[in-house]
Amino acid sequence: MPHLNPVDALDLDSELDDDERLIRDTVAAFVRDHVSDHVAGWFESGTFPTGELAPVIGKLGLLGMHLDGYGCAGASAAAYGVACRELEAADSGLRSFVSVQGSLVMFPIHRYGSEEQKREWLPRLASGEAVGCFGLTEPDQGSDPGGMRTQAKRDGDDWILSGTKMWITNGSIADIAVVWARTEDGIRGFLVPKGTPGFTTSEIHSKLSLRASVTAELHLEDVRLPSSAVLPGVTGLRGPLSCLSEARFGILCGVVGAARTCYLSALDYSTTREQFGRPLGGFQLTQRKLAGMQVGLVHSQLLALRLSKLKDAGQLRPEHVSLGKLANVRAAIDIARDARTILGANGITTEYPVLRHANNLETVLTYEGTEEIHTLVVGESVTGLAAYR
Ligand SMILES: Cc1cc2nc3c(=O)[nH]c(=O)nc-3n(C[C@H](O)[C@H](O)[C@H](O)COP(=O)(O)OP(=O)(O)OC[C@H]3O[C@@H](n4cnc5c(N)ncnc54)[C@H](O)[C@@H]3O)c2cc1C
Repeated sequence: MPHLNPVDALDLDSELDDDERLIRDTVAAFVRDHVSDHVAGWFESGTFPTGELAPVIGKLGLLGMHLDGYGCAGASAAAYGVACRELEAADSGLRSFVSVQGSLVMFPIHRYGSEEQKREWLPRLASGEAVGCFGLTEPDQGSDPGGMRTQAKRDGDDWILSGTKMWITNGSIADIAVVWARTEDGIRGFLVPKGTPGFTTSEIHSKLSLRASVTAELHLEDVRLPSSAVLPGVTGLRGPLSCLSEARFGILCGVVGAARTCYLSALDYSTTREQFGRPLGGFQLTQRKLAGMQVGLVHSQLLALRLSKLKDAGQLRPEHVSLGKLANVRAAIDIARDARTILGANGITTEYPVLRHANNLETVLTYEGTEEIHTLVVGESVTGLAAYR
């Protein structure tokens, strides 16, 4: 009889408190009831049913769940991490929806917004009645957002925004866009409501990764905004970078779920599929893969738990987050790809989750700081030498 529980071999969830375990179970039940049977179809058709899911996710209290007040749940970082894990066990697109809304849209409004902006947007975003997006990346500026071209110029009391944002999750369905633009005082964040004259979006199709997620381009042509549209609490790149640090924490926890799903799928398959007269799991080469996947999974679970505890203690630093994203996304990709090999030809279909996750994880490896950029962050933090340029 196997003695290790493959889902949580070190029983790390026993470190969670009762509320955190309840959130874990609630999210897992939501995924089972509303997502699991449909997600492969959404991936195939390149759709995400935002209108249907957002209110349900909002009702569960998952949108901006680690923020306080204004309709937000005020949960711990550990609870947020576990929720991301259970969402991404289904699909990285689902977790991305929740990450973008909570960490990239609600967080900057909560941290840097005026009282009026918080009251206007946070309760609606928390309930899922409104959807938000975060526009930082541009066609010519990805890893180096400090070189952005989108500009905001003063015109009397108003601001005039011009530029293009690219690869924006939820971009074409968002009611509110947090757009980062260069001003003469430095980079500032602006709240741009859907329908503002001069603001248009176009959806990006033909993705082979994160297909169950809406990705769009934002076009801003002389968009006039009142002075009340700027986020008053922050100037400079630290504004968007602080949001990304929040969202990357969700990623490093979330990918543990994707890795776990792939591992469990391969483990199950290896005990039922027979070749050469015995189950695949009975071959040493398969066991080597399974044991390696189990080790990778446990490492990422430990890292996610420790970083959650540091975040709850207010001690999590951006370098920790880079270390965690770097390690856990790489581990998840390796597990997904090894799982794919165990499933053989079946592994390339959407009937099984492994290649869908492996493909999604290519986006997760790239967005919110690529593997190379996080390597450079860790490299700088251990040597004291910056190697970005
Ligand atoms: C599906 C999807 C959703 C996304 N959602 C959002 C969103 O909601 N909002 C948003 O603002 N952005 C979003 N992004 C954009 C994402 O954050 C960027 O793609 C990412 O920052 C990388 O930028 P880039 O694609 O322009 O690559 P580039 O910056 O052009 O990099 C290309 C390659 O060069 C490497 N490289 C760059 N600089 C260096 C260096 N100094 N040293 C070594 N190697 C280097 C990179 O690591 C990478 O491998 C999304 C992307 C995808 C694919």
